[in-house]
Amino acid sequence: MVRTIDPGTDGTVGVTVTLTTAGCPIRGHFQSAVRDAVMSLDGVRAVNVSFDVMDDAQKAALRQTLGRTELPEGALARVQNIVCIGSGKGGVGKSTLTVNLAAALAAEGRKVGVLDADVWGYSIPRMLGLAADRPAVSAERKIVPLQAGGISVMSIGFFVEEDAAVVWRGPMLHKALKQFLEDVDWGELDFLLIDLPPGTGDVSMTLAQLLPQASFVITTTPQAAAQRVARRAAEMAHKVSLEISGVIENMTGFVTPDGERYAIFGEGGGQALADELDVPLLAKVPITMALREQSDAGVPLVVHDPDDPAAQAIRLAARGLIALAPPPRVAERQPVGMALPMAG
Ligand code: ADP
Repeated sequence: MVRTIDPGTDGTVGVTVTLTTAGCPIRGHFQSAVRDAVMSLDGVRAVNVSFDVMDDAQKAALRQTLGRTELPEGALARVQNIVCIGSGKGGVGKSTLTVNLAAALAAEGRKVGVLDADVWGYSIPRMLGLAADRPAVSAERKIVPLQAGGISVMSIGFFVEEDAAVVWRGPMLHKALKQFLEDVDWGELDFLLIDLPPGTGDVSMTLAQLLPQASFVITTTPQAAAQRVARRAAEMAHKVSLEISGVIENMTGFVTPDGERYAIFGEGGGQALADELDVPLLAKVPITMALREQSDAGVPLVVHDPDDPAAQAIRLAARGLIALAPPPRVAERQPVGMALPMAG
């Protein structure tokens, strides 16, 4: 937030930026972004950028202005885009799409993290070949995500015995998710993809509360019945004011080696849902044996065989996410002429 702008008399402009926390990890970015933006104005010869820190009352006022319960400080301060991958029901390929989208974004040169928030049905560790690994804790007492093909990964599956039934409810669940967002050293990321549990339960609501800046991608199969269930996930997103970026249709037909196509799960559900929500259909991902095999083998198909038809469709969806992402936050901030929430 810009607290004061002092135009001076000799072309030297003083700008005071108020940070939410003294150790703000993007302080340096603010400094250069403010300096560059002000220097580009006519008549400006020098810019002095200084910083102060909000007190608790000011932070509370800002949270209210932004309609947030938490500010993205610390671990998430350097994450540009948070995308929740949701579905109306289980088994539609949400986790498979999440890991492959992450790998496709990484292949496009983006820094990517995956948070497996499917706390009851976590499958991301296995799909990324990390099932036997355990994360370390840094000197700053942050959990260090595991790495798989350049993707930072965090899952409840790293902390519990395989196949253990995890009973997460209410406050405990809220606390665990909060910890995954705040106590994990996510570092600088272009995209953090969050694999939600199916449906519209506790986790989705908690995350929506913690992450009002997140957007939603809804996955569905082509069946009309699946599309109707997926719409409930969309309604939940709307209710908690999360933006829906698009729809991905999965299991769109199967083509035999002889070229014969079977619409195993019907046709058209993804497009119908996208039209109804007035968002883009990011991809139609066909059923391929290789996509299932690679999920089981722990190496995303888009890495193993980027030319497989399912991999191609997922790469298209990843490019769609890149195109839909707003420009980087820091570059976007314009100190001159912006509203000063602190003044109100
Ligand atoms: P969800 O996360 O929605 O419960 P998963 O990603 O675990 O679903 O997928 C369920 C199963 O379907 C997995 O075995 C996965 O490998 C397989 N699968 C998902 N999408 C496809 C596809 N397009 N082609 C072939 N198999 C798929």
